[in-house]
Amino acid sequence: MDYAPLRASADLPPLRVNLYSDTQTKPTPAMKEAMMRAEVGDEQFGLDPTVNALCDQMAALMGKEAAVFLPSGTMCNQVAILTHCRPGDEILAHETAHILTSEGGGAAALTGAQITGLRGPRGMFDAEALRAAIRPKTRYAPPQTLMEIEQTANTGGGAVWPVARMNELTAIAHENGMATHMDGARLMNAVVAAGTSARDMAAGFDSLWLDFTKGLGAPLGAVLCGSKEFIGAAWRWKQRVGGSMRQGGICAAACIYALDHHIDRLAEDHANAKLLVRGLAQIPGIKVEEPDTNLVFFDVSGTGLTSAQLADAARLHGVAFSTTGKLRVRACTHLDVTAAQIEEAVAVVRAVVAKA
Ligand SMILES: *Cc1c(COP(=O)(O)O)cnc(C)c1O
Repeated sequence: MDYAPLRASADLPPLRVNLYSDTQTKPTPAMKEAMMRAEVGDEQFGLDPTVNALCDQMAALMGKEAAVFLPSGTMCNQVAILTHCRPGDEILAHETAHILTSEGGGAAALTGAQITGLRGPRGMFDAEALRAAIRPKTRYAPPQTLMEIEQTANTGGGAVWPVARMNELTAIAHENGMATHMDGARLMNAVVAAGTSARDMAAGFDSLWLDFTKGLGAPLGAVLCGSKEFIGAAWRWKQRVGGSMRQGGICAAACIYALDHHIDRLAEDHANAKLLVRGLAQIPGIKVEEPDTNLVFFDVSGTGLTSAQLADAARLHGVAFSTTGKLRVRACTHLDVTAAQIEEAVAVVRAVVAKA
């Protein structure tokens, strides 16, 4: 495995700018204060008032009947797939979808479902690609029971799916007997960038979830939303996979705090991403993809460096990037990165590339 977790090492200088991931934010003092004050109870029995308040707030925000609190986004996806699908079923999703690339083969291992990856630029597919993937319903074809999209499309460069495209796709899926699921890990980034409400973005989906650890600053937690019936069935899978919690309100309080205080400020992360792109675009040999939201991807092939060499060299100057592939670097802006730190990161990359 070439995945190298960021570690504080004696050999490395202190981390000054962390563009590695928007999952690495630390709870703010005010968020910790809210966690300390949280009223709690036994979440498994529906007796935690703070978890209940979070689920009510999320269901209202997404325009769905009900919601369930889970420890992570991955668990939301897996519980949703377990609830929608049976063994042997087929799921249609983009070929770069998190459920296909980054959940340990969970759909196959837990549900026994296969995922077919659809193609399309920026992590998004269109109606033509979806229609082409729909099989005639025969005795020998796998039942196609779920269509999934990612808002925003993570490895698609944090791209925002327009509502019209989502509505078109969810209608086709429903006409063909499929349920629809949104991996809304960064849904609120899309909401802020597009100026469209979460409810409108969620309208065509039978289930969707939001991650509170992607730029929203909570220490853990994600909330899966859907109909009362769907969430009732999802709750049994939550129990079966061990995701039921006790005094979860301590963590739900951080998520409520994030909903109330960390949504509008996502616009700052998007502005910082644009600032980073403007800076990187000036550096010879670097090709930057125009970001919709807080994820910036750039190609380093013209610098003579691989993505890992560039990331390692930048880390020696206190700036952390992640890599996706040999020549593609990813930078995430988030709560703990300021505009001044973006300028600092650009200066470090310029120096590293000049030296190469
Ligand atoms: C991070 C991420 C997930 C998984 O969420 P976790 O909370 O890390 O388990 C799923 N889908 C997308 C698009 C993500 O970016």
